[in-house]
Amino acid sequence: MRVIYPGSFDPVTYGHIDIIDRCAKQFNEVIVAVLDNRSKKNMFSIDERIELLKTTLSDYTNVQIDTFSGLLVDYAKEKGCNKVVRGLRAISDFEYEMQMALANKKLSHEMETFFMVAQGRYAYLSSSIVKEIAIFGGDISCFVPKAVEDAIKKK
Ligand code: ADP
Repeated sequence: MRVIYPGSFDPVTYGHIDIIDRCAKQFNEVIVAVLDNRSKKNMFSIDERIELLKTTLSDYTNVQIDTFSGLLVDYAKEKGCNKVVRGLRAISDFEYEMQMALANKKLSHEMETFFMVAQGRYAYLSSSIVKEIAIFGGDISCFVPKAVEDAIKKK
């Protein structure tokens, strides 16, 4: 079974990696799909985000990194894969995720969204909070891999 794990990954954190690791154990193939959304203000370019994911996930033989723009349902059709995984951290994620899942179902009836519950220790972790801590010189080594930490410091 193949699944798509879509997101901004700006940049990838241990929270994302945990979801990918667990998906890689449950599914035959995981496609990590980085959303190329030019209207959103990202710290890292699409190529940089892909590169950081590739470096971080190089040990996984059944995880591939890809990129998409536009509607997720169109990308899923193009890939011939109708299963999507999203991570759920807190109640605050729920409303948006539910809306997205239902909208995607409406757009494409075959589309199925699977939710994977975040590990307690990563439940507060987001790319935004990591960037915010880094801007003020805080230690982010427990939130992101070394390659990501170095890349943030360079920015
Ligand atoms: P998006 O902009 O699509 O929310 P993100 O890169 O922020 O993209 O997140 C991609 C997916 O990973 C989302 O489903 C999000 O809920 C999930 N996610 C992000 N951080 C964590 C975390 N710490 N633990 C579990 N899931 C997470």
